[in-house]
Amino acid sequence: MLNVERRKTRQIRVGSVLVGGGAPVSVQSMTNTDTRDTEATLDQIRRLCAAGCEIVRVAVPDEDAVQSFARIKAESPLPLIADIHFDWRLAVAAAKNGADCLRINPGNIGGEKKVAEVVKAAADAGISLRVGVNAGSLEKGLLKTYGGPTAEAMVTSALSHLEFIRSLGFSDVKVSLKASDVLRTIEAYRLFSEKSDTPLHVGITEAGGGLSGAAKSAVGIGVLLFSGIGDTIRVSLTGDPVNELRVAWQILRSLRLRQRGVEVISCPTCGRTEIGVEKLAESVEQALSHVVEPLTVAVMGCVVNGPGEAREADFGIAGGRGQGIVFARGKVMEKVPEDQLLDALLSHIRKHLAEPGGKGSL
Ligand code: SF4
Repeated sequence: MLNVERRKTRQIRVGSVLVGGGAPVSVQSMTNTDTRDTEATLDQIRRLCAAGCEIVRVAVPDEDAVQSFARIKAESPLPLIADIHFDWRLAVAAAKNGADCLRINPGNIGGEKKVAEVVKAAADAGISLRVGVNAGSLEKGLLKTYGGPTAEAMVTSALSHLEFIRSLGFSDVKVSLKASDVLRTIEAYRLFSEKSDTPLHVGITEAGGGLSGAAKSAVGIGVLLFSGIGDTIRVSLTGDPVNELRVAWQILRSLRLRQRGVEVISCPTCGRTEIGVEKLAESVEQALSHVVEPLTVAVMGCVVNGPGEAREADFGIAGGRGQGIVFARGKVMEKVPEDQLLDALLSHIRKHLAEPGGKGSL
């Protein structure tokens, strides 16, 4: 069986989550609430956590946000990364206020002296650092040398920041190299991982929203993970960040890197479809979105491939004219009218989850 072989990187820690060095690829997201609104941000973090987020990044744009960050940290169920741009003092304050990791772009912090202050704050707090290199904000000198924000320019930038940070005796660092162009991002990560064993945060920045953003992220992150590159991932989508988690887990599941929650296998429908597959699959996905246990659930529209797929899955429905057969663990459980299929399927899954070892509830 084809398996992904992950590249060996050094290990760092973001709060309780290990990153790199063979640790499972962790899933990140970022809040899009105003950080100064403590309750709204905490509420979003809790929703992200329920959807499978393991590390969350929070923007800290000013002093008020630092104060709120401390309150958020006190109640957050997830490790927090403080995302800082331009002002090194905010990074230092966030480190003192409970951040588990600081995300900076050393290129916009204002020179080595200020970067050194941030590194010292991270070292004093015993936390890690993410050096986030972005094609959109590369140093002017590098843009001139490389004729633009090329993959080589991004890698050179990351390596030079790393060299400086290591010269200060600090090595709990991970790196990201993000561009909105998928191929350039892949090239940058590949080049970097040939030269360094620093753990990598992988993502496609400004991927967009909805299906196109999900597809772009899945291709970029998927190709990298398939080549063994990536220790923690973030799918960036415009809109509610909870949607990012669904895509992230689907990427990890597809590559058999991690399993969590329900995978709905539904047929694309065709001229033979005999039940309302689209609506049914959507309702199944919705009803099972909080189940943590890795399960496959098939929703199939007719008797051609339906029974086979439904039997292979942990649970399944195979449609027939105005009715359908419900399967559980490969066995036919019952035949019910179409309007009772959802309830019948869910009741079998509910029963399974209530058994010893079942994870989650409906
Ligand atoms: Fe068409 Fe049946 Fe295949 Fe669904 S399972 S796509 S309805 S042939």
